[in-house]
Amino acid sequence: MEIIRTISWMKEASREARAENQIVGLVPTMGALHEGHLSLIRRAKSECSKVLASIFVNPTQFGPKEDFAKYPRTFESDVEKLTAAGVDAAFAPEAAEIYPANYQTYVNVDGISERLEGRARPGHFRGVATVVLKLFQIVRPTFAYFGRKDAQQVRIIQQMARDLNLDVEIVVCPIVRESDGLALSSRNAYLNPQERAAATALHRALAKAQDAIARGTRDALELQSILRETIAREPLCALDYAEIVDAETFEPAVRIARTSYLLLAVFLGKTRLIDNLLITPSPSNPDDLITSL
Ligand code: AMP
Repeated sequence: MEIIRTISWMKEASREARAENQIVGLVPTMGALHEGHLSLIRRAKSECSKVLASIFVNPTQFGPKEDFAKYPRTFESDVEKLTAAGVDAAFAPEAAEIYPANYQTYVNVDGISERLEGRARPGHFRGVATVVLKLFQIVRPTFAYFGRKDAQQVRIIQQMARDLNLDVEIVVCPIVRESDGLALSSRNAYLNPQERAAATALHRALAKAQDAIARGTRDALELQSILRETIAREPLCALDYAEIVDAETFEPAVRIARTSYLLLAVFLGKTRLIDNLLITPSPSNPDDLITSL
């Protein structure tokens, strides 16, 4: 597997791939790779003739008090995993390659970026949209793969692609979980054993709400109470938000009738974890809701 460090080299490799009519798939990551990332790579491999993964801990998406400095960096084992997964090249630039001195241009997706994760993490989505647009420009992929674990992030990227007429198809992949339900995340490495045990509360809360939906509950406040109460029963968990939103706008929903998300953000000590449940009306009977954890 090729490891590409510079933008000029990456652009040259993408130019060659396009000249050969390759279908290029891009999987953007911040490294510290786990099965969640690898599931995106497997999906890309099944749909593309060339698969590229980027490894870049993007400084502009971290707030000044966030974990940029201590974010897990496991480059050697990431390279092993990408090689074993059959990735053609890894794009792993230095921060100064992406943001040289006097860098001045940022992408803001208004509206949706201001809510929920955007409110909790000011500037986060501006950093995400900027780096993803730059990666799209550098790699010019046909398809780009993102996890539903970061539901608001992928919605913002879809909006950016639509608004800026980007020639890339955004593919959203399901959430990969541990056997006890915890969604895989590079940040799970921060949890001590007690916090790790308590972290299953996110999945438990969403699963309880999922049961309630299956029994006919449609009222957002009722579902929100289920989420809140389940998190509140776990002393190591501190709820940041539990919201029921429209999947298109990320505006709060009153009753679930359209495609929606139940979203959770929870602190375990200093570690902040997010998770969600996707709810879609059944195509055959829109009163039936299909839920995916
Ligand atoms: P990150 O390295 O955290 O920026 O994540 C890179 C990509 O992997 C993003 O599109 C994430 O949504 C996705 N991802 C992270 N965790 C998971 C997971 N547990 N299941 C599926 N996709 C994930």
